[in-house]
Amino acid sequence: MKPAPFAYRRAASLTEAVDLLAADPDAKVIAGGQSLVPMLNMRLARPGTLVDIGALSALDYVDLVDGHLEVGATATQADVAAHPLVRERLPILAAAISRIGHSQIRNRGTVCGSIAHHDPSAELPALALALDARILAYGPRGPVVHEAASFFTGTFDTALAPDEIVTAVQFPLPAPGTGWAFEEVARRSGDFALVGCAALLRAEAGTVAEARLALFGVASTPVRLPEAEALLTGGPATEEAFDEAARLAAASLTPSSDSHASADYRREVAAHLLGVALADALARSTDA
Ligand SMILES: Cc1cc2nc3c(=O)[nH]c(=O)nc-3n(C[C@H](O)[C@H](O)[C@H](O)COP(=O)(O)OP(=O)(O)OC[C@H]3O[C@@H](n4cnc5c(N)ncnc54)[C@H](O)[C@@H]3O)c2cc1C
Repeated sequence: MKPAPFAYRRAASLTEAVDLLAADPDAKVIAGGQSLVPMLNMRLARPGTLVDIGALSALDYVDLVDGHLEVGATATQADVAAHPLVRERLPILAAAISRIGHSQIRNRGTVCGSIAHHDPSAELPALALALDARILAYGPRGPVVHEAASFFTGTFDTALAPDEIVTAVQFPLPAPGTGWAFEEVARRSGDFALVGCAALLRAEAGTVAEARLALFGVASTPVRLPEAEALLTGGPATEEAFDEAARLAAASLTPSSDSHASADYRREVAAHLLGVALADALARSTDA
């Protein structure tokens, strides 16, 4: 199939992009096009105008800002994963990106585009949730800051207003010594995950001082696991404790069954991945 007709405008500045978006209620931003172009071809999206932000080179950056690693809207997933700041200060972001599709997709797709698009089986919304990231946006009313905890509202749905553009995502840097793991199960390498999880763990003298857990592929949004985090925190950093928290977390899930996997299978995989991820995170942590 071919897309329905649309107007195409390549913005030369953020202000122009916002003006173009405001001028047509059916306009849509296009960044890397790795989700939007297939949706256009299948006529699942029929925008009146495509506002291309690809030329906004001022938004092509990775930087450290106030204890956060900030990724601009036009930075591609491949460039972000290879960036020295990411590899040194937030390697879980590089690990999460490495699970997205294939290298051709990561060469064009953007980190901010994945977060704005919000596929519930996507890696980066779950990581943003686990880290309490902030999504920086800009619209006709000026800058807007969205918290990841309230940003992902449903399948392909977010708190972003139709006339707002995501300009950057700020990922808080974990405390020194924090270990991490990013795990997922997919049918084939490069496929969207059936279930996946992000885990961050800090231990002090054999006790869990902080745990952060988020799952994806188990609901219409990524899922943070506050009960399991609370159960772990202050308890022993052992595989038995991890398995118990993983079982508790998985039992609280209500995934749906579909042609790819049943709800029971997703719960079982979630429990397994969480246990593995917590053990891997502990192995990567430096106990204070
Ligand atoms: C074969 C294949 C496999 C894939 N596998 C995976 C996978 O395993 N995991 C995964 O997470 N993704 C996967 N993807 C999707 C891919 O990672 C996309 O790059 C990503 O989801 C969207 O980024 P993009 O820059 O390409 O956004 P686009 O496709 O350009 O846009 C996607 C949506 O986000 C909006 N948008 C984009 N940027 C902004 C912005 N700055 N402000 C406001 N709105 C914006 C657009 O309007 C559009 O609605 C796959 C894609 C393909 C084709």
